[in-house]
Amino acid sequence: MSCRKADSQLVPAQPTGEADENQDPRRPRLTIEDFEIGRPLGKGKFGSVYLARLKKNGFIVALKVLFKSQIEKEGLEHQLRREIEIQAHLQHPNILRLYNYFHDARRVYLILEYAPRGELYKELKHRCRFDEQRTATIMEELADALIYCHEKKVIHRDIKPENLLLGLRGEVKIADFGWSVHTPSLRRKTVCGTLDYLPPEMIKGRMYDERVDLWCIGVLCYELLVGSPPFESPTPAETYERILKVDMRFPPCIPAGAQDLISKLLRHNPLERMTPAQILKHPWVQAHSRRVLPPTTHMVS
Ligand code: ATP
Ligand code: MG
Repeated sequence: MSCRKADSQLVPAQPTGEADENQDPRRPRLTIEDFEIGRPLGKGKFGSVYLARLKKNGFIVALKVLFKSQIEKEGLEHQLRREIEIQAHLQHPNILRLYNYFHDARRVYLILEYAPRGELYKELKHRCRFDEQRTATIMEELADALIYCHEKKVIHRDIKPENLLLGLRGEVKIADFGWSVHTPSLRRKTVCGTLDYLPPEMIKGRMYDERVDLWCIGVLCYELLVGSPPFESPTPAETYERILKVDMRFPPCIPAGAQDLISKLLRHNPLERMTPAQILKHPWVQAHSRRVLPPTTHMVS
């Protein structure tokens, strides 16, 4: 991948000063030599993620190592640049920070915030389902993160348990902005995302906007409380059909307040969906959420 060209387009996070290497030619860029590499945290499609420590000050990060050859083979250079550009500009306690990036001849390294409690998906599979307190807390965290993203004209489009990581206190961190869109008009017409979480307008190939994320967190709220997503079916065709009809049944284990919230998010018409600000004020969320704000950490390199 020709990252030389990309460098001029990418302007990673500014305000805390950690991206100075990209701005100030007098300061050298970080290299892999600046880190002590620890245990692998996981493997993705294009490379691996390792726990790492900045030698200079002991700051712990997750280092995502991507192979340029694999990214080029799939023609994803543009998407990677976009992922980096978007995530580097987002600073919110419930969005995984991308502190910085660098590259060598064969690899691109993303310096990410370390999420010590791993994937929400794994915890959900382990526990089967979450209680009202945990689910309402996650809904408040995600609604707050979405207010922030949507103000910046960023749509995530792929919110699901696999893309949510957990901080030290169990707070969610939205990760994987690979599919997200940053556009002044907030409108795009490409289908992506995963079947069970696909909103009707994306299935139909219609124009869509930031309200797709509200559909996704409605599906998520259901899955967290029940243990499986609302439109799950034996075949993809049946899943599509059920999504388009909003054919959803609430098992008795879903409390009335949560049913009210979910049914106000899973509206076929995006304009009828509750807004993130309304989620924060929803009585069920207010009664059960125990959100704690984590302290902000800065990678001073
Ligand atoms: P994809 O390649 O489709 O993005 P993925 O999300 O599983 O798949 P990666 O983003 O490369 O791939 O991450 C691989 C795994 O590493 C994740 O599933 C997660 O368990 C772990 N991981 C990734 N980032 C972090 C992080 N910042 N902190 C802790 N663990 C992480
Ligand atoms: Mg990932």
